[in-house]
Amino acid sequence: MTSFREFAQACKVIEETSGSLDMTALVADLFDSVTPDELPVVTHFVMGEIFPAWSYEEVGVGAGILFSALAKAAGISVKDIEELVRDTGDIGKTAVLALNKKSKGQATFSSFLEEKHELSILEVFERFRDISKVSGKGSQASKIKNLQYLFNSASSEEVGYISLLAIEELRIGVGEGLVRDAIAKAFDVPSEDVERGFMLTNDMGLVATTAKEGGADAVRGLGLKLNRPIKLMLAQITPSVESALSDMEEAAIEWKFDGARVQIHKDGDNVILYSRRLEDITHSLPDIVESVRKFVHADTAILDGEAVAIDGNGRPRAFQDILKRFRRKHDVSSTAKEIPLTLNLFDIMYLNGENLIEESLVKRRELLLSCVENDTTIHVDAQVVTNDLEEVDRIYTEALKGGHEGIMIKNPNSPYSPGKRGKNWLKKKPVMETLDLLVIGAEWGYGRRTSLMGSYALACHDNQTGRFLPVGKVATGFSDEQLTELTEMFSELIVMESGKEIELKPEVVFEVAFEEIQKSSNYESGYALRFPRLVNIRDDKSVEDVETIERIGEMYRLQRERS
Ligand code: AMP
Repeated sequence: MTSFREFAQACKVIEETSGSLDMTALVADLFDSVTPDELPVVTHFVMGEIFPAWSYEEVGVGAGILFSALAKAAGISVKDIEELVRDTGDIGKTAVLALNKKSKGQATFSSFLEEKHELSILEVFERFRDISKVSGKGSQASKIKNLQYLFNSASSEEVGYISLLAIEELRIGVGEGLVRDAIAKAFDVPSEDVERGFMLTNDMGLVATTAKEGGADAVRGLGLKLNRPIKLMLAQITPSVESALSDMEEAAIEWKFDGARVQIHKDGDNVILYSRRLEDITHSLPDIVESVRKFVHADTAILDGEAVAIDGNGRPRAFQDILKRFRRKHDVSSTAKEIPLTLNLFDIMYLNGENLIEESLVKRRELLLSCVENDTTIHVDAQVVTNDLEEVDRIYTEALKGGHEGIMIKNPNSPYSPGKRGKNWLKKKPVMETLDLLVIGAEWGYGRRTSLMGSYALACHDNQTGRFLPVGKVATGFSDEQLTELTEMFSELIVMESGKEIELKPEVVFEVAFEEIQKSSNYESGYALRFPRLVNIRDDKSVEDVETIERIGEMYRLQRERS
């Protein structure tokens, strides 16, 4: 049994050490010195967490509860505690000072005990677990009582660490990378295996215990488990579609949806949803749970996708709206009606007991298509495998037109690499460099947009001649409502019309995002914008503020140097 005092002493030494190799050695010694049942707890504690990040358990202690518990344990007021926090700027130090005052001034709870007992690491953990379990009426008082018990039993070396752990603010400079290396060192397991184990289980405590008990072989045997989220595969930004395509023989192109990531675990009718941060968000999204139950035909599955909130025009709503859904704890069903979500599935990592992460994207997608029945609320996203640049550009333009972020360019032969931001998933979205340009003309739209001005001609300024030189047209970045408003506004500025073409009085400035500036003989400026998109109507800017042809030329040269 290891005492919490020994753990606190080890933390102090680690905290005061600067080199990461020395720190790793100290953490490895600590891991090596504790018993198997203490190891997962210590692994989480050194990283400042009490339960693994993915766990639904949380201590639920904020500064308010902590200060009340400290005040009670020290026999002073909460105000005194707040003053100490202001003076020291540090909660750990505050706890030590507050409880030192007590030991000088008054008899303590622990001094009445016949034998002053030493807190063990597991005892502290169990108290935190008790605290995490209380809910409802009286929970605050119960949390305070439990903390007070810990403070009354602790020595001054320990109270600071207990306080910081309680509010999950213990930061002694030990992160995932250092813990990975310490586990590798302590139990003689290659660091890559520890890393892989962590990516699959998302639980360093479990990896440490597995390494201690079964060495490298056992760590390599760690795999996916239903209802325990795995780290998500991530995407790297690509400077251009061309360079992305040149790295892959053929690429799988998908829209990059403007929504929020969801990892889905289906175990029969039991469905659990995790957010991008792998927090359990099941209760906030009952509509998605229902769709998965109904339309994913698999006994067990782990799926990856993006939830999108669509407006009346089929365009994605603001990200804040999605967050409203993800964070909702009460009135969930009314928010679900107000902000319906559509789930776009793009990957599958596990199906009917089979781990699929080593399979190629092509194979995984085949299996994904085989088990998902498309519906309005849930579907497998469209994917095109190609190496044709024009086709990719077309999909990119469509995605932007649809109000989404851009495209994903994926290697069809690649495995699912949890937690990796590698070259197998590339994302292409417009660089958020913007130009303020003058609107000099417009064009009447097509189809349902015939009575709307659907595209706007943009110009920069030539200081030498005083003229405005066209640099392209913008036709994306606005909703139908915005187009209606813009059409109304620009109707007053029409100078002349010829067919669909409209010449406008040059008065309005658009802030436009784009992917790159190209040389072009189509426009008088000699330049054109690739994938221009309206970001803002700059009411605050006037004709004098628009970009000059010199600046655009300079940006073009800079861009060439960078690529
Ligand atoms: P970013 O957030 O810019 O790093 O881009 C990666 C994110 O794009 C992922 O975490 C997903 O949430 C999101 N995303 C949208 N559509 C897709 C897709 N088709 N494939 C993978 N990720 C996607």
